Amino acid sequence: MGLFNLVRPKTKTVCPRCGVEDYWWIQFKYASSTMARYEIGSTVEWGVPGYPEIGTLGLPHVFTEGISQGCEHCGYAPEDDEYSDIELRKDEIVDVTC
Ligand SMILES: [Zn+2]
Repeated sequence: MGLFNLVRPKTKTVCPRCGVEDYWWIQFKYASSTMARYEIGSTVEWGVPGYPEIGTLGLPHVFTEGISQGCEHCGYAPEDDEYSDIELRKDEIVDVTC
């Protein structure tokens, strides 16, 4: 799906294939898509040269959709895509809901 960013969810997930409990990072396309790894409380980056950009800088309140990328240990991904809402206020990630 090309370039995106990642945000860490609030809770870990136990992988049904390998049994490892870890964060299943969430892919999203908002601001500059640089494969950055953000957490709740991070401020997304804009205007990074050479990277695609989606959205509008500095909006007071915005929701964007993300998708779980599954288990990093064994590559397992849910068959049905699991979407999350990512909430931003003035480019700061304030919440992620699954
Ligand atoms: Zn796994």
